[in-house]
Amino acid sequence: MASGRVDLDGKPIKPITICMIGAGGFIGSHLCEKLMADTPHKVLAVDVYNDKIKHLLEPSSLPWADRIQFHRLNIKNDSRLEGLIRMADLTINLAAICTPADYNTRPLDTIYSNFIDALPVVKYCSENGKRLIHFSTCEVYGKTIGAFLPKDSPLRQDPNYYVLKEDASPCIFGPIEKQRWSYACAKQLIERLIYAEGAENGLEFTIVRPFNWIGPRMDFIPGIDGPSEGVPRVLACFSNNLLRREPLKLVDGGQSQRTFVYIRDAIEAVLLMIENPARANGHIFNVGNPNNEVTVRQLAEMMTQVYSKVSGESSIETPTIDVSSKEFYGEGYDDSDKRIPDMTIINRQLGWNPQTSLWDLLESTLTYQHRTYAEAIKKATSKPVAS
Ligand code: UDP
Repeated sequence: MASGRVDLDGKPIKPITICMIGAGGFIGSHLCEKLMADTPHKVLAVDVYNDKIKHLLEPSSLPWADRIQFHRLNIKNDSRLEGLIRMADLTINLAAICTPADYNTRPLDTIYSNFIDALPVVKYCSENGKRLIHFSTCEVYGKTIGAFLPKDSPLRQDPNYYVLKEDASPCIFGPIEKQRWSYACAKQLIERLIYAEGAENGLEFTIVRPFNWIGPRMDFIPGIDGPSEGVPRVLACFSNNLLRREPLKLVDGGQSQRTFVYIRDAIEAVLLMIENPARANGHIFNVGNPNNEVTVRQLAEMMTQVYSKVSGESSIETPTIDVSSKEFYGEGYDDSDKRIPDMTIINRQLGWNPQTSLWDLLESTLTYQHRTYAEAIKKATSKPVAS
């Protein structure tokens, strides 16, 4: 499995120890799976929960049992963190509040989680001469320049006005009272701090900007493995609606555009960063799939079709309904209009390209959602209502 693996420059890859903070989340669980199955690296998996990686931790007879260790700790207040970073060659920080429903309703938690709590991680890496891969977000770009052009301007069709480039695009956020941007702003400041640690103190860093990574184990299904009133990201919201045979809710007409990339494709990019430090250090990378662009309305239509196919159930009579953002997210919500990643830097440095079409990634993801949740939803909805 592991022997004979070489990096992009043909040099043998040495096994390393990785301190992965937030290993129990959606991205962390897929990254741990990949590292255990296809590499010789060790993982110190740090998180407050481990439900999504339980299958990698138990039983102790698993072939990688001596290469993954779970450390249940909250990085906010645990003195063990520095020791774990010192034991590792590389730290990957995935810990964050990253669901839009929280940005305007829990702005303090959002800012603390994405900026303040990340500070000691950056500091310990810098002081101990350890490499850091930090997860940021495509949301640091905010809105496109094109969003401010008149609706009928032909320049809106010009990629110079909407394609998002790591080293050229500005970061455009709305006013402070639109608390949606508390997340983007906190992420931007931690990126700037990491960049400055690199420039002034020689920190070896890589910053990842995920563009709507989706797939199995993303977020939660409200009322099944998360709070019934919780609002996850769009894939889980729409999956929940489909599983419950409810209309999918289109916020403000579902006109926003997104590019979705399959989590398994994105994880390949992260592995290239891990194993090619000379090519990845000092860079910020967009990781997304520019070919998979849809409006949220189109996403809803495609998910409805795919779900019918994988579940064998016909779709309901009114598959979508419109809701205002104020009703759905509350005061202070705002939105990114369009997110197309420029792929020049990741192509040049790591030769990475996404492979999976939107249809295919939805088919495998909704097959997983149906298999994992359909029975539980049936049970939950058939319970007699307490009088
Ligand atoms: N959205 C929607 N209905 C839902 C959930 C989300 O129309 O049930 C919209 C949301 O307003 C946004 C897009 O879908 O325009 C993507 O939202 P997501 O929460 O996945 O995160 P984002 O891409 O904004 O970071």
